[in-house]
Amino acid sequence: MSDPAAAPTAIAKNIAIKTEIVVIGAGQAGLSTAYHLVQRGLKPGAGFIILDEAPQAGGAWQFRWPSLTLSTVNRIHDLPGMPFSDAVDTSAETLEAAAAVPRYFAAYEERFGLNVARPVEVETVTERNGRFRVETDRGAFAARGLVNATGTWTRPYIPDYPGQDRFRGRQLHTRDYQTAEAFAGKHVVIVGAGISAIQLLDEISQVTATTWVTRRPPVFAEGPFDVEQGRAAVAQVEKRVRAGLPPNSVVSVTGLHMTPRIAAMRARGALERQPMFAELTETGIRWADGREQAADVILWCTGFRSALDHLAPLYLREASGGITMTGRLATEVAKAPRIHLVGYGPSASTIGANRAGAVAARELMETLAL
Ligand code: FAD
Repeated sequence: MSDPAAAPTAIAKNIAIKTEIVVIGAGQAGLSTAYHLVQRGLKPGAGFIILDEAPQAGGAWQFRWPSLTLSTVNRIHDLPGMPFSDAVDTSAETLEAAAAVPRYFAAYEERFGLNVARPVEVETVTERNGRFRVETDRGAFAARGLVNATGTWTRPYIPDYPGQDRFRGRQLHTRDYQTAEAFAGKHVVIVGAGISAIQLLDEISQVTATTWVTRRPPVFAEGPFDVEQGRAAVAQVEKRVRAGLPPNSVVSVTGLHMTPRIAAMRARGALERQPMFAELTETGIRWADGREQAADVILWCTGFRSALDHLAPLYLREASGGITMTGRLATEVAKAPRIHLVGYGPSASTIGANRAGAVAARELMETLAL
């Protein structure tokens, strides 16, 4: 169904296509879930349907900046049942993630006949008489179960600071970044203390003047990230979502690790951090103590939120702003056991999405007695 013209005629006629389970999103989380649904005997296109709004295979990876390569990402774990190397020659480490991952995902979809319908954007999901109605820009689907795997890429987060409307320069978010060379000759303020902020600071500071600001002083742990620390970080996020709190990003609990690349930045003085500014001015930024810095560009590397707006009519959120999760890996929505969120909270990593997809497929099929 990847060719929209080949989508079922019912889409065009706006009749709800009936299926058992709709999976929304075909990134790592959606594909892993789909794989396990197939292993458990559900037929793609009949027992379940997988929808994705992006133009091609690859999840959010297809939109990432060109300098993000297979050697500069943390680590992209293979999807279940097919190694990356079956689709991509990984010996060239400088391969762009935005090209290599889509190639792998496309081959994966084909191998397992996942029949992803794209581009199909889910606009809202409602529930009536025990069925979900999934409204999309290409018609409606009706299902008894739902797996939401929509990631975060479509929900960039920029915090509010006074003067944002006043600033006459350019403001952009991590997701808009393409190349450092685009900023040559400009003064760039980079906001944020995550891995993306540091990677972009590294690149941009090699071609032009930068100011790096973070709310709290970043703490760099020496040595590589170990598995135990990873587990502990994920456990913290899991505890939050089980308590109905909004998830925080895994890196906010793991902290940052001193890599050779970051050590080189420190050595050349590119890692000088300033506190967060108090406001933007017409021509730059101003700190609380009155100091100012002229700037042409503010690059907000301030993260993402879960892309869940289309689920708003289901009232899944608690007063605390989070969704209370349950189930073995906290993928099941506590107040709606026929909905699983995969790639959300503790499973927001490629390895987490793999594991969560397996458990969500099993638990949801049990709930639906399939
Ligand atoms: P996505 O890959 O975002 O897939 C979601 C899919 O849902 C998309 O294809 C989108 O088109 C679709 N979608 C969204 N909304 C709708 C809608 N309304 N209707 C229909 N379709 C919709 N993790 C790692 O484990 N290792 C790394 O090295 C790593 N590097 C990263 C680098 C960057 C810059 C960023 C931002 C994240 C990185 N992560 C990394 C996190 C990682 O990308 C994710 O955890 C994982 O790839 C996300 O998979 P996903 O399926 O949840 O989301």
